[in-house]
Amino acid sequence: MARYTGSVCRLCRREGTKLFLKGDRCLSGKCSIDRRPSLPGQHGAGRKNVKEYGMQLREKQKAKRYYGVLENQFLNYFIKAEKMEGVTGDNLLSLLERRLDNVVFRMGLAESRKEARQLVTHGHFRINGKKVNVPSILVRVGDVITLRDESRSSEKFKTLIDEIDTRISPKWLEMDKENIIAKVTALPKKEDIDFPFEEHLIVELYSK
Ligand code: SF4
Repeated sequence: MARYTGSVCRLCRREGTKLFLKGDRCLSGKCSIDRRPSLPGQHGAGRKNVKEYGMQLREKQKAKRYYGVLENQFLNYFIKAEKMEGVTGDNLLSLLERRLDNVVFRMGLAESRKEARQLVTHGHFRINGKKVNVPSILVRVGDVITLRDESRSSEKFKTLIDEIDTRISPKWLEMDKENIIAKVTALPKKEDIDFPFEEHLIVELYSK
């Protein structure tokens, strides 16, 4: 399975905004974008912002990087979003938000989506009682996501579970924090996403 293996902080600097890809570090004084906000690369500080096409491209890159998906996969989400009823941009964000790795992150069981993706790949979760290991699975309304009993006692999850009360769950996920069970009660909407995406720019980009 292909994935990005370079510096994630570089991605934030490229987009000129915090994409929150490194858990607690993003909220600390160590965040690279706070310390060095210029574009990455030797001539980054001198590079100018681009116009319409550039803005559309950057918005697409932001969304891709925020959710940790690659180009073709992102395009497939767009094609699917276009075929769905409703507003394409909203559908696109909803699809990305429904990815299992994002759901695990939203449950508060990973510091970042990248970590959530790895935890899913290692088979720590079940959907409706069935073990799953594919981060791109899209959850549906009514799905119940649980942490496997065998995983609960591991050192890794003990720490995360201890901190779970401090995490805020999105409205579309009903969390039983004591038993680490999340139920999908609705499809996520744009207003449930805590990042100010301008998804219309992505739609414009792909509509050229
Ligand atoms: Fe982005 Fe987090 Fe790195 Fe800051 S610390 S640049 S928000 S990944």
